[in-house]
Order: sequence, then C-alpha cells, then structure tokens
Amino acid sequence: MIPVMKPWLGAEEAEAASAAVLSGWVAQGPKVAAFEDAFARRVAALHAVAVSSCTTALHVALHLLDVRPGDEVVVPSLSFIATANAVRYCGATPVFADVEPETGNLSAATVEAVLTERTRAVILVHQAGVPADVDAIRALCGPRGVTVVEDAACAAGSTYRGVPVGADAEMAAWSFHPRKLITTGEGGMLTTNHPEWAARAKRLREHGMSVSAAERHSGGGAVVESYQETAFNYRMTDIQAAVGLVQLSKLDAIVRRRRALAARYHELLADVPGLRAVRDPEHGTTNYQSFWVVLPDEVAVSRNDVLARLAERGVSARRGIMAAHLEPAYAGHPHLDLPATEAFTTRSLILPLYHDLTEAQQDTVAEELRAALRLPLASH
Ligand SMILES: *Cc1c(COP(=O)(O)O)cnc(C)c1O
Repeated sequence: MIPVMKPWLGAEEAEAASAAVLSGWVAQGPKVAAFEDAFARRVAALHAVAVSSCTTALHVALHLLDVRPGDEVVVPSLSFIATANAVRYCGATPVFADVEPETGNLSAATVEAVLTERTRAVILVHQAGVPADVDAIRALCGPRGVTVVEDAACAAGSTYRGVPVGADAEMAAWSFHPRKLITTGEGGMLTTNHPEWAARAKRLREHGMSVSAAERHSGGGAVVESYQETAFNYRMTDIQAAVGLVQLSKLDAIVRRRRALAARYHELLADVPGLRAVRDPEHGTTNYQSFWVVLPDEVAVSRNDVLARLAERGVSARRGIMAAHLEPAYAGHPHLDLPATEAFTTRSLILPLYHDLTEAQQDTVAEELRAALRLPLASH
C-alpha cells in the first residue's frame, strides 16, 4: 500500500528524544526554549510560544483577543474542524465564509460578505500549505478593528510575497502533528510580532503562572509564582521540542523534495482533461503539504468511488479538505450558501506525497488515478 503521508523521521530524532529523557528534564524547559527561538527565526517572526497543538495555539490566540460569547469569528468551513472549534471554545460563534475555487482559501471578497458589527477576528487558513492573500484580507479587516489570526498549521516552509508565511503575522498558529511537514508527535506553536501577546501566551499555556516552572528551577533561590488568571495546561514537553529541533533542520530539504515531486505530478497528470491540481498562487509558493486534485465535472465517477478504486489498487488517497458545516457537530449551525466550499469538498481528493515517495510509486498513483477516472458511475 502506498500511504498518503509518512513523516520523515530517523535516528537523529530518536537520539534527540533519548538525550532529552536522559537529561532528567522532560517537561517544558531548555529544549522548548531553543525550539521556540529556532522556529521564530525560521518563519521570521519576533516571538514564538510552543504549545501542545495547533488547536490549542488557536484557542490561546482567540483568548488573547478576549473573544467571548456574542462575538463572531470568520473562518472557512473548508478546513480541518479545529479551526471552527477554537471559536466555540471561547463561547463565540464561528461564521463560515466561502473560499476561492483556485486556492481553497478565503479571499477579501468572501470574508467581506460575512463581516458584521460583531466580527472580532478572522482565522485565515493557509489551506494545505497554499499561502492565502493576507495583505488583501488585512486591508479589509484592519480599518474595522478585526484581527487576522493565521492558521498556518500546514504552511511551515511556504512563502508569501518573498518571505516565509507568518513572517508579518499578527498571530499565526502552527501544527507539528505527523500529518504536517515536520512533526513532534503532537505539538504546536503560536508566533506573533507583539511582545505583550507573546508574554501573556507564555502564561496562558502554563496555568497562568507568573514565573514558569523552568525559570523557577534555573533561578536557584526560592521564587514563589503567582497565578494571574484562569488559564490552561497547553505545554509542549522537552522531549517533543528536542525532536522538533531536528525536524526543523530538515524543513528546507523536505520542502524541496515535495516541490520536486509535485512538479512531477503536474507533468504526469497534465493530459487528464479538466483535472485541476494544487499550484502556487500568484503571490507565493506552497510547501505542497497536500497534493490535492479536483475531479473534472465531465467525469461521471463520484469522488468516493475513485477513493475506493484507488484503495483496492494499493493507493491510499484521502478525501480532499473537509467542510465543517457538513459535519454533525455543526448541524443546524446557520451559514450562508457555500457553493465553492461544497464543490471543493465533494470533488477533491489528496494523493500520496511524502519525502520518501519514489518516482515509481508516483507513476503508479498517476496510472491508477487515470484508470479510476475511466470507471463509469454505473459500475459501482
Ligand atoms: C492540522 C490542522 C489543525 C490542527 O492541528 P493540531 O496540531 O492537530 O491541533 C488546524 N488547522 C488546520 C488547517 C490543520 O490542517
């Protein structure tokens, strides 16, 4: 079976985890601090705060903005469900905006259509690693006092107008789940260029403590912490951060390899009439976190039949990006029509792409996809 995704992990990560364990300091400590510094430098952000996942990074981001019941936060429905859930964690209302069909991302036009007096923030997702047009959406939101939080879960190594995605973000949330380019098992990061947000985020992830446990330990003398507000335990461990430091050093190589493989997919699939595949947008480059394709309207086969056929033939593809508003968790949740979102989510699928994927495997995927598309609907 050719898997859809496989993390690129090796002996170096195993040794780093082992060294962290043997150091005797396994919770948030020096490795987390080093990973934060390295990650901030890599995405050209001023501050990075490591947390337990991208989901908790999004929750902290909205908490920093004091998002509360009665507030609205605009999100794409076309995203992993955690994007919308983070809004609900604050008791606020996620408002679904539609996406551009070409990129799967929100645009200024789709966001503007759902802004109201109650909109406090927009969570702008760089979906599947494709950079969204941040400048256009900030130009729309800034004058209205609406903060743009970037969900960059998938976008480590992507670029926007010549700089890393997240470089100029008010806040950006990142994921190190194994489904993303670099992994710490589970893990996330919040980056920001606002020092006061970074300082409060560091307290929020750690029960609201005024002085972190690591600082108290290294401080030597008796330091008594106080608890400033009701907060969370969203810490990353030093074992995870040690792995993350090694993974981060591989990010450039991972992106290079994925972009080369993606270029090859584009060539292999170029002659499938009407098939649309993920590409670089005008304003940036994608890390190809997922290689999605949207099936042509002319093809009579359903997306799920294509997936089933590929699975029978040893190719593990996945449905394309989900749409939160179609899940039971959001049944009855009011929203405007989301035609581009619905077309994308029902007609797209994700093909295998990972660092160790071979060209021969890629040829197999392309051949099997071609064969699956020729299946008439009636045969299933
Ligand atoms: C994966 C993902 C998340 C969740 O990341 P976790 O680290 O698993 O919490 C959130 N948003 C998007 C767009 C994602 O792809």
